[in-house]
Amino acid sequence: MSSSPLDLVREFHLAVGLAVRSTPAEVSPELAAHRGELLAEEAAEVAEVSVTGPLDRLAHELADVVYVAYGTALVHGIDLDAVIAEIHRSNMTKRGPDGRIDRRADGKVLKGDHYEAPDVAGVLRRQGWVPGGE
Ligand SMILES: [Mg+2]
Repeated sequence: MSSSPLDLVREFHLAVGLAVRSTPAEVSPELAAHRGELLAEEAAEVAEVSVTGPLDRLAHELADVVYVAYGTALVHGIDLDAVIAEIHRSNMTKRGPDGRIDRRADGKVLKGDHYEAPDVAGVLRRQGWVPGGE
């Protein structure tokens, strides 16, 4: 797949008349709650099939989570690709300059001394977000 999910989900939202904003902004509490519920439903479906499978069902539900997450971002006017790039930048700093990685007993990668937290607010401001404004 060459397109970002952002392009695909934008096409879907425009095709069926769902909201698409180009600048980050808070939306009505009703719409925000509705989007949150949609995402929670899809996340619950992932949890349901994570262990039992089958694998095609897990793949389907994972894609639903990503699709609904991108849709929720579009509804709020968030360029989610840019936010993911910032999360990735931050995650890569979990590896020290010497390449060393600290892990918890269960394998989770820990934040080392060189870890830089993601600046998501900065990303949204660059997209035109005015915190607390409309
Ligand atoms: Mg689903």
